[in-house]
Amino acid sequence: MTPESLAEGIRRGERRALAKGITLIESSRPEDELLAARLLDGLSHTEMRGIRVGISGPPGAGKSTLIESLGMLAVGKGVPTAVLAIDPSSRRSGGSILGDKTRMPRLSAHPLAFIRPTATGGATGGVARRTRESMVLLEAAGFELILVETVGVGQSETEVHGMVDLFMLVLLPNAGDELQGIKRGIMELAELLVINKADGPFRHAAETTAAQVCSALPLLHHDVTGWMPRVLLTSAQEEQGIEAVYETIQAFRQRAMENGELKQRRLRQATPWMWERVHDGLRRRFLADPTIRRLVGELEPGVENGTLGAVAAAERLLQHFFGR
Ligand code: GDP
Repeated sequence: MTPESLAEGIRRGERRALAKGITLIESSRPEDELLAARLLDGLSHTEMRGIRVGISGPPGAGKSTLIESLGMLAVGKGVPTAVLAIDPSSRRSGGSILGDKTRMPRLSAHPLAFIRPTATGGATGGVARRTRESMVLLEAAGFELILVETVGVGQSETEVHGMVDLFMLVLLPNAGDELQGIKRGIMELAELLVINKADGPFRHAAETTAAQVCSALPLLHHDVTGWMPRVLLTSAQEEQGIEAVYETIQAFRQRAMENGELKQRRLRQATPWMWERVHDGLRRRFLADPTIRRLVGELEPGVENGTLGAVAAAERLLQHFFGR
């Protein structure tokens, strides 16, 4: 199947074509990369029909439970919803490893939903290697709500913020204790902050945290777009507050469509995307080169035992690669 006919199938909303397309763009075989580039090129002029939402937060905050509630609400309204979920095998959530069908059982069975588990694996933090590209395919296939789940590991929040339209942070009711410290830089990125598990014995703590977050926000947020970040309380388990999350996402989208910010934001993300692909391509081609691999094998021991300088070794490798 040519990339052009695959693109056709994706545009028609065929699930098989979509799954095949995502597999193609995730492939690291050099011959597939050219096909993947043609596929993406064929889909690059899709109108902005959907909204891409990044969902981050510490393990156990209730991200997958919230994604399922939110997804169910959306498909209930007839909105095709896609989820790029973190592959359970690459999650570290309290040791419990469950398949996605178990994690989002109702959503995964719904005909308007599409759930794709992606392995975070390797270099990047909590974001899969081809998340940006997958979102292009999903939007072309007609998905209007695209939810990208990430594991909060510090770096990944910044990374996912740079590839979505709206960044949502899911916090635990006791997050207030942490507000003074590490979360500050990350909170600044969020357009929407959700304090989940605001139920039963946690309700009071969640309200206190929400108040703390709200009072910290005007100081934290320096967004040029004028969107004031929202703070919402939810219970994903009891499906409380989910409608407000959905409506906030839609309100953000509508506003960003009207004032052109959505387009601008995606354009601002395009150059970093280009460089990401250049870095990725260079690194992988470099490491795949047989002579480079041999030379690495020769030079590394010297660097390790101190007989060869690190910079000198790096220079030799680079000169060897580019000097041909
Ligand atoms: P994730 O690691 O952030 O994806 O968190 P999960 O969605 O897997 O949820 C972690 C645990 O918290 C699970 O046992 C959920 O059942 C539970 N949980 C999720 N949402 C809520 C909620 O709103 N209230 C309560 N009480 N528990 C929740």
